[in-house]
Amino acid sequence: MSFLWLTRRNGRSRRQGTRRALLVALALLCGLSEGALAERAGLSGLARLSAAASFKQFIDEFWPVARRAGISRKTYRRAFSGLEPDWEVLARQEKQPEFTTPVWRYIERRVSSERIAKGRALLRKHARLLRALELKYGVDRHILLAIWGIESNFGAHKGRKAVIRSLATLAYTGRRQKYGCNQLIAALKILQSGDITLTGMTGSWAGAMGHTQFIPTTYLGYAVDFDRDGRRDIWNSISDALASTANYLAKRGWRRGLPWGWEVRLPKGFNYALAGMHHGRRIRDWERLGVRPAAAKRFYARHEKAWILLPAGSRGPAFLVTRNFRAILAYNQSHAYALAVGRLAHRIAGGRPLVARWPVQDRLLTRSERIELQKMLAREGLYRGAFEGHIGPKTRAAVRRFQQAAGLPADGYVNASLLERLRRGR
Ligand code: CA
Repeated sequence: MSFLWLTRRNGRSRRQGTRRALLVALALLCGLSEGALAERAGLSGLARLSAAASFKQFIDEFWPVARRAGISRKTYRRAFSGLEPDWEVLARQEKQPEFTTPVWRYIERRVSSERIAKGRALLRKHARLLRALELKYGVDRHILLAIWGIESNFGAHKGRKAVIRSLATLAYTGRRQKYGCNQLIAALKILQSGDITLTGMTGSWAGAMGHTQFIPTTYLGYAVDFDRDGRRDIWNSISDALASTANYLAKRGWRRGLPWGWEVRLPKGFNYALAGMHHGRRIRDWERLGVRPAAAKRFYARHEKAWILLPAGSRGPAFLVTRNFRAILAYNQSHAYALAVGRLAHRIAGGRPLVARWPVQDRLLTRSERIELQKMLAREGLYRGAFEGHIGPKTRAAVRRFQQAAGLPADGYVNASLLERLRRGR
């Protein structure tokens, strides 16, 4: 309601209206109430905030936003005293890689033999803690180790940037201002809580913190003090960090005793349109369709819902994933990430390498080629999304329609030969 009301009432040019609406969104994200939004003074303050000429001015203008979120003057001064923006943070977020990493390389890098060995050693070393976490939260110990291994290489790469400074830079300018603002408020709350000192509050350039790389809002929602020293210390306490991750997964739907998924074999003539996270059915129903575990003896929890994933199309490995895979996606919504976690957990637990091979000879598309692909799909009347070169569900659905019409396996998978086919016009 406030969006329309505010843009109309101000009755300026449309561009200003849009900008103002963005500011309102920013204010909402920062936890301002609608009443506060309606205050003209508050709004003009926010308008100045977005247009802040200098970082110093930004810090001054951000104060009322922080105050409304419950931050004390003392905390604010401590956080921002002598603070300068970190331009490296901006450079990192502006980076848009021309080439995407193939899913197999992404997974191989994260499920390296070195990491598997380290994970197995830590499985023994922290056996007592992991058992306690399994008891309390129901989350599989190998999954906790895998997330720890992938997020920070078991604590070796937790990130050394000052979190308040990184987030203040992102909130100040660039294309992730909303994120920066929202996380900055959360980071100030953490600082105010006394869980960690200002200098101890380090993380990645985007503000992911500690052993398992929680962003501040996730920390506020899910971090726990498992070792009971009075502080939720995900930076220095392995117990707190792994317990926080277990708590997060449990609250995001992790079910005790259920595997994240299996590598599977699909029957001949499998309808690839059934793959993807939109087509769930019970494990036993997949079995009826001829889906079998690739290496495991049998499925279990067969009444549970599951989904088929083909991360590299019909010629690569296939996976059947459960609701626990979805819980991992809450951590990071990339399927490749969740698969890497699942596979690393499987290997740490003593499981074998994949049975199927990845189509490593495939050439993937560059960003400009992906945009070309989207334009050609649109010309064929199959695609109505944006031309930004990101292969999401809409593009995949369009690719499937093209493949069906061309008599190809409709797996929605995009590579150079598919683009060639489109260029030739089926
Ligand atoms: Ca603690």
